Amino acid sequence: IQTILLKNRPKGSPTHSDFEFVKEDTTLTPKEGEILLDTVYVSVDPYLRGRMSDAKSYAAPFELNKPIYSGVVAKVTASKNDNFKEGEFVMGMLDWKTQQISSGKGLMKVDGEKAPLSAYLGVLGMTGLTAYLGLTQIGKPKAGETLIVSGAAGAVGSVVGQIAKNLGLKVIGIAGTDEKVELLKSKFGFDSGINYNTTEDIKADIAKAAPNGIDIYFDNVGGSISDAVLFNINQFARIINCGAISVYNNTELPKSISVQPFLVKNSALMQGFIVSDFEEKFPEAMQQLAEWLAAGKLAYSETVVEGFENIPQAFMDLFEGKNTGKMVVKI
Ligand code: NDP
Repeated sequence: IQTILLKNRPKGSPTHSDFEFVKEDTTLTPKEGEILLDTVYVSVDPYLRGRMSDAKSYAAPFELNKPIYSGVVAKVTASKNDNFKEGEFVMGMLDWKTQQISSGKGLMKVDGEKAPLSAYLGVLGMTGLTAYLGLTQIGKPKAGETLIVSGAAGAVGSVVGQIAKNLGLKVIGIAGTDEKVELLKSKFGFDSGINYNTTEDIKADIAKAAPNGIDIYFDNVGGSISDAVLFNINQFARIINCGAISVYNNTELPKSISVQPFLVKNSALMQGFIVSDFEEKFPEAMQQLAEWLAAGKLAYSETVVEGFENIPQAFMDLFEGKNTGKMVVKI
């Protein structure tokens, strides 16, 4: 059995020395009420960076020298719990271990016949729910409006743009490579895309792509990209602060422009958002996402990295934009 522990709280960008691998030569046997799980897919997510730090946040920090945990799909390989049968698959917050014992608490059964198992960590899982609930609950989209999303080719962003298209909006995406910008248009049906790494004037490019201005900004990255969007917002614009990956590894406070004048003069709304704020809406959101998926109205991409030993690298690669769509590790 292999486990990955948090060795150090990363300073700046995480490095391999922040993680420790432990190997044990033991056989796990479930006791009454327990199940044995073999890990199949591990989700790596930008928000885990926050949990690696001990700064106050909405989620408790990981403990040093304890296993890191995240969304995992696992196979039940032995069961002494009447609610689970051997051979079934489950999804839940589980340790970064190749094999583990669970009471079954907090686990949801997932059906690999209905959708690929990895999809329950992405489009039909936390990132899909984030896209749908952030957009609908805070963005309150209306057909004919213009939406811009940053981190557009990622797990959350690619779904945000497609949902907005399904709801009749004009959609612009901001991403880090020309290949990603191309994919936004060809695979995800965005109206246009901007490469923030090659643009000479991102403010002007946004204005050109959105001649009627921006009504909704779904923000996954924060920082200077978000500053540029603010110059282009309309009256009564809604700004969904979903994430700020561009500053997660900062060791100093970011130098951003002051947002207040933009909000005041446009009567705009900016709201922070954590997907779990809307837990009571998960079932209806899941149902809508599954419906769109089945109807071919929602495409998704995944970057699948193979091998338990590559989990830390896959996590670190999120900050280099190495993924398109959901980054998952197949064990
Ligand atoms: P993604 O799949 O979008 O992966 C991260 C992407 O961020 C990379 O592919 C990269 O794409 C982009 N990126 C990395 N560094 C930078 C940078 N310095 N500037 C701009 N873009 C950068 O991850 P998720 O979809 O899982 O998450 C997206 C955001 O949503 C994150 O900020 C995350 O924390 C947040 N989130 C928030 C939740 C909530 O409840 N509030 C829930 C889930 C996610 P590129 O090549 O385009 O640079």
